[in-house]
Amino acid sequence: MSRLDLFIDRMVSQRACLDHAAEITAGQPGPVFELGLGNGRTFHHMREIMPERDIYVFERAIASNPDSTPAEDRVFLGDVYETLPEALKRFGATARLIHADLGGHNLAKNDAFARAISPYIEPLLDRGGVMVSSDRMYFDYLQEIPLPQAAVEGRCFLYQRG
Ligand code: SAM
Repeated sequence: MSRLDLFIDRMVSQRACLDHAAEITAGQPGPVFELGLGNGRTFHHMREIMPERDIYVFERAIASNPDSTPAEDRVFLGDVYETLPEALKRFGATARLIHADLGGHNLAKNDAFARAISPYIEPLLDRGGVMVSSDRMYFDYLQEIPLPQAAVEGRCFLYQRG
């Protein structure tokens, strides 16, 4: 499989999982968190498919396309190790959907980071809430749930709090 194939699979899976998570959580209260803004493509998609939601973005340095840049009062600026505990104090366990795409090109580094950040993400999600991640996460009480048909196994991961 070429790197292009892997990239395409990741993008297709990300969109399919975000669409699926938005469907599962439709009509239920609570904010949505985007961890890792980057260029803002997934943030832009989330705004399109969940126009009614308050979407908060966690990013250490904003460098997104102007069309995909959140309002200042919707940004937790800084390292997620500091901003996720701030969000927990502010919102408690109320998040309805959390999307994390914090990784880079080094798979071993991404896996270590996913393991380290999992306990910071887990307490933010409300019962029934869904987490979409580009990396496998290491949760104690969120359950991994099946991917939608359009997603490719291993390119995206879905979790739900029972
Ligand atoms: N999903 C985005 C998109 O569609 O454009 C791409 C996100 S990009 C792969 C990852 C982003 O996560 C980068 O912008 C990086 O700055 C951010 N990031 C990585 N580690 C972080 C950390 N510890 N705290 C805050 N932001 C972080």
